[in-house]
Amino acid sequence: MDKLEYLNKLRALQTEGKSVKELYNKISSMAMALGMSGGVKPAVKTACYFSMEFLIGRSFYNNLAALGVLRETADILAGKGIDINVFEEIEDAALGNGGLGRLAACFMDSAAGLGIPLTGYGIRYKYGLFKQAIINGRQVELPDDWQQFGDPWSVRGEDKKRIIRFADMSVTAVPYDMPVFGKRVNILRLWQAEGSKEAQKISEYLYPADDTQEGKILRLRQEYFFSAASIGELIETHVKRHGKNFYNFAEFNAIQLNDTHPVLAIAEFIRILTSKYKVAFQAALDIARNTFSYTNHTVLPEALECWNATLVRKILPDIYFVLIKISFKQREELRMRGCPDDLAAKMAIYFSDTFSMANLAVYVGKTVNGVAKLHTEILKSNLFAAAFKYYPQKFCNITNGITQRRWLMLCNRELSALIDGAIGTGWREDISLLSGLKGHESSLAGEFMQVKRKKKEELFAFLEKSEGIRIPDGFLVFSQVKRLHEYKRQLMTAFALVELYQGIKSGKIKNFHPSVFIFGGKSAPSYKRAKSIIKYINDIAGKINGDKDVKDILKVVYVHNYNVSSAEKIMAGTDVSLQVSTAGLEASGTGNMKFMMNGAVTCGTMDGANIEIVDLAGMENNYIFGARIEQIDKLKREGYDPSAVLTDCPECKNAVQTLIDGTFDPTAAAGYKELYASLIKGASWHAPDNYFVLYDLQDYVKTLLRINADYEDGRSFALKQLKNVSASAYFSSDRTIKEYAGKIWGLKV
Ligand SMILES: *Cc1c(COP(=O)(O)O)cnc(C)c1O
Repeated sequence: MDKLEYLNKLRALQTEGKSVKELYNKISSMAMALGMSGGVKPAVKTACYFSMEFLIGRSFYNNLAALGVLRETADILAGKGIDINVFEEIEDAALGNGGLGRLAACFMDSAAGLGIPLTGYGIRYKYGLFKQAIINGRQVELPDDWQQFGDPWSVRGEDKKRIIRFADMSVTAVPYDMPVFGKRVNILRLWQAEGSKEAQKISEYLYPADDTQEGKILRLRQEYFFSAASIGELIETHVKRHGKNFYNFAEFNAIQLNDTHPVLAIAEFIRILTSKYKVAFQAALDIARNTFSYTNHTVLPEALECWNATLVRKILPDIYFVLIKISFKQREELRMRGCPDDLAAKMAIYFSDTFSMANLAVYVGKTVNGVAKLHTEILKSNLFAAAFKYYPQKFCNITNGITQRRWLMLCNRELSALIDGAIGTGWREDISLLSGLKGHESSLAGEFMQVKRKKKEELFAFLEKSEGIRIPDGFLVFSQVKRLHEYKRQLMTAFALVELYQGIKSGKIKNFHPSVFIFGGKSAPSYKRAKSIIKYINDIAGKINGDKDVKDILKVVYVHNYNVSSAEKIMAGTDVSLQVSTAGLEASGTGNMKFMMNGAVTCGTMDGANIEIVDLAGMENNYIFGARIEQIDKLKREGYDPSAVLTDCPECKNAVQTLIDGTFDPTAAAGYKELYASLIKGASWHAPDNYFVLYDLQDYVKTLLRINADYEDGRSFALKQLKNVSASAYFSSDRTIKEYAGKIWGLKV
């Protein structure tokens, strides 16, 4: 099918009496036929992206846009009396938790867009990330049955099934191929587990947390399941094309491990080469060391995966022996190089009945990369310092990015049109041209302000519909949307809000420009403290929104079920992006980049990619506050007393006291006491105020007030925003994926 045929078929489509679901499936399958008409072109070398998560979002609009038929489809449907926006009722494919999964989806989009051969491998969860309802201010988790609308964008590979063996059961892995359209068609291959009831469980649920250890055995099975299915297929394909000579395997394949979740793939690769093809162990290890590369995404100790060796031995005995052998080889190698025991211990793959997936990935990985400059520096100086000493050449930085196709062209057509008008449409193909906007900002400021106003109106309409809260025109929009985690410090924003509210009430804060604070984000179901923070924010929202003294000045909205589709609206309609993690803890962030590309200024700490954002867009066009990483390190070394902060600052104290003084939650059922104790006394293994919320709070409040005052000069604020847009090309995942292709995968770009 070609484009003309597609459009003719669409014109002829009988739409009367058809449900949205029927139309969605019909039009999607026509678009699939159009997209697949050229097939998937073979490539000499293909990169493979192994990831436990792909947070895809909605495919409908994105795919029609990639195929170049979105506008015409909208027009033809409009002629039939159908608004293309009706398909917004189709739910997101949320096969990921947050940033890491969304990054994988952006990479697939960019590789296809640029014509780089990249195959994604993951799991086709029956239920993706839970749907979040907010009931009485609390998070309630509901199952995410994303396939209820059908799955017209996948093709089941009946002939490509594989058997995956565990000690106690066998599971059939059935691939579902999702094409990714662009300059070339790439495939995202998601494996579904079939067989016994136990077998099916493996692909039933997305592991609902990216930072806690739970349901360990099932998690282990999931990781091995998709790694083994993918490796098995890659080796089989290699043997078919190139015979049983594996020395050239890395000439044709590069495998990128997205965090530690797929690291068992290394052991499976060596297992198959040594047991099935009788390759010598050392040779197999050497081939693996040319093939695999590892991306680290976090320095939080609780998120660095370790497996209990006894458990691995029970469920995957062959893999256990391969891991032990790799660990032995590593120790031998380090001993030969004169590595002292204490450093060797830091790099150990196997210790006290535990396998460290990160240490395995660092040892075998051809490269190890962090996802922003600061993060990579922390890997080298801290988390993997010992390995950096012995294998410095492995380490490199590749700063994350986001796809401008979804995060600008699709979600902000108005801003895209403004850019077209100023510099032509070339940037849509070659994002580096976006920097051509530089120097034109002041002539575009007026037009930009109109675009922002329109996107804010759309966002406010969405908020009114989904949350029932009406925001009056002219409000300044602050947004903090991301997974709920203590290190991201939504609690600090909550305290800042209480201070602003109290200051406005008492008359201490004057001439405050009316502002709305938008929050959104899910907490891991078992993460009690994060859930208390959600409840606290909702309590604050209730209080502020219900107070008629401030109703024309301050509003707070908690957007329930934050996902890719709501993100698209929030990014476009925001003025100020809140990125306030404790310095050193946000590896990169990608939400910050989406906001920037849509012309929001960043109010943030010197953390993750914020540093590179202000580097490129100018300190003067953003709002940086809070302790730098050196200060945080110093406080950790020399001791930090959060109570002293409260003693010195009555406003802080009053805000924090609302956790325990009965302002909210008079029945004390929300866990606020525990939250308070975690700040003042410390809790479990955490030091008091482990994330330095109170330390940075006053500087944060001051910065918010400074932003608020600056906004009075609408034009100069718009100029700052536009300067962020014109500096944002670097944060396109097109740039990121080109770096992976060139520096790591050895692909021509
Ligand atoms: C971009 C994105 C994220 C990551 O946001 P951060 O602010 O970088 O943590 C998480 N969830 C969704 C739905 C996203 O689109």
